[in-house]
Amino acid sequence: MKNYDVVVVGGGPGGYVAAIRAAQLGLKTALVEKEWLGGVCLNVGCIPSKALLKNAEVAHLLRKRGREFGFSFENLELDFGSAVKRSRQVSSRLTKGVGFLMKKNNIEVYMGTGRLTGQNLVEVNAADGGVESLQAANIILATGATPISIPGIQVDGEKVLTYREAILQEKLPQSVVIVGSGAIGVEFATIWSAYGVEVTIVEMLPRLVPLEDEDVSEELAKAFKKSKINALTGHRVMGIETRETGVAVTVSSENGEQVLEAEQALMAIGFRPNSQGLGLEGVGVKLDKRGAVEIDTRMATNIPGIWAIGDLTAKLMLAHVGSAQGIICSENIAGVETSTLDYEMMPRATYCQPQIASFGLTESQARERGFDLKVGRFPFQANGKALGLGESGGWVKIVTDAKYGEILGAHMIGPEVTELLPELTLAQMMELTAAEIARNVHAHPTLSEILMEAAHAVDGHAIHM
Ligand SMILES: Cc1cc2nc3c(=O)[nH]c(=O)nc-3n(C[C@H](O)[C@H](O)[C@H](O)COP(=O)(O)OP(=O)(O)OC[C@H]3O[C@@H](n4cnc5c(N)ncnc54)[C@H](O)[C@@H]3O)c2cc1C
Repeated sequence: MKNYDVVVVGGGPGGYVAAIRAAQLGLKTALVEKEWLGGVCLNVGCIPSKALLKNAEVAHLLRKRGREFGFSFENLELDFGSAVKRSRQVSSRLTKGVGFLMKKNNIEVYMGTGRLTGQNLVEVNAADGGVESLQAANIILATGATPISIPGIQVDGEKVLTYREAILQEKLPQSVVIVGSGAIGVEFATIWSAYGVEVTIVEMLPRLVPLEDEDVSEELAKAFKKSKINALTGHRVMGIETRETGVAVTVSSENGEQVLEAEQALMAIGFRPNSQGLGLEGVGVKLDKRGAVEIDTRMATNIPGIWAIGDLTAKLMLAHVGSAQGIICSENIAGVETSTLDYEMMPRATYCQPQIASFGLTESQARERGFDLKVGRFPFQANGKALGLGESGGWVKIVTDAKYGEILGAHMIGPEVTELLPELTLAQMMELTAAEIARNVHAHPTLSEILMEAAHAVDGHAIHM
């Protein structure tokens, strides 16, 4: 039997990053992966979706704004199949890179399904029937999560899809109903509508992207209306009937029921942690009500030597959170200096058009917690770079505590705002105030100047407003 200091089960952005950090710290490390290195994120999630969104941006520009930019076409042809092929190339390049990193760090990779057979034992079942047992002083579980559906609604992968089929299909539907307006729902709405697909997005809660600040939801609703995306908020999906030509989605709201017909439906209502079939019960690893593995701030489970990270822990199902957990987990195993995570302050990025980026408390959450607030807000309309890009919709809002100047959260909607997060999250982590951000000289013309202006606005003296 092979013996390791660390065996990681699951090769997504949580698992492979944890494995690299463990190896860097001198621990003999193996990684078990049943399907593909890079996990959901690199293969069928974050990365290919962002490649498709780039295509969507160009398609939107050409179809809807060609004249404004001075381009005209006789017969504009949009080949969505090529967009998907490009996204597969991007994905494949990155996953190969992960393979290279495993070799570079002397991490042994076992392709197969891992299962705990003891507190220090992982059994690996390879697709070819081979079985291998690995002994490890430490086991890091990083098996990710699976999309859920509404009870009674069957996902068939052809007419009723999850993100997996949606991201791989080369043919565009003529019309689609998207169930759920979280990040995945609004990103697919953006991709499809840019290519001229008739999109209806159904959200049970009263607003789009319901976990974001209320003002962000309102701004996105306006932008979606302009893009002719039909957003039905406050509507609950009651059932989906598949027909020969497509789907009939029954939705209900306070005004009664209606049936939406479309070629396809996408279920984008959330995920459940992949904690089943992992042998956790046998070893006594504690799960919460959602089936997520319970961890402490070190990423340790209740069983010594067993650790868990990423979507499996359902702390915040985002790739960078899984990776950060992975690094901290391996550092705790190695006994070196490390940190903890404040999940509320993690950056959150949604790549719909316009993009959304946020962290920390929304304005209303901060008020509910009893903070006396000072809020700084600045629109992209008054940002030269945004005007040059032709993307002057949206704004930035910084929420601070009036008493000590602490940054409690920030909410942005507009061009490339996902790239603007790190300055603010770093400032928050280092306990800087808005006044200090305002004193940081920002290059001109950049979108990032909006952060400086919003920071000035906190104290009521934005320069360009
Ligand atoms: C369409 C889409 C877009 C997304 N976009 C973003 C984004 O822009 N930004 C962002 O931060 N997040 C995004 N996410 C979320 C992100 O993909 C996940 O948060 C991230 O992949 C979680 O990483 P993980 O390592 O926990 O799990 P995963 O990436 O799910 O990896 C888990 C791995 O474990 C393997 N595995 C499972 N069970 C076993 C087993 N028993 N034995 C061996 N291997 C096993 C799986 O095959 C998989 O490779 C997106 C998700 C989707 C679906």
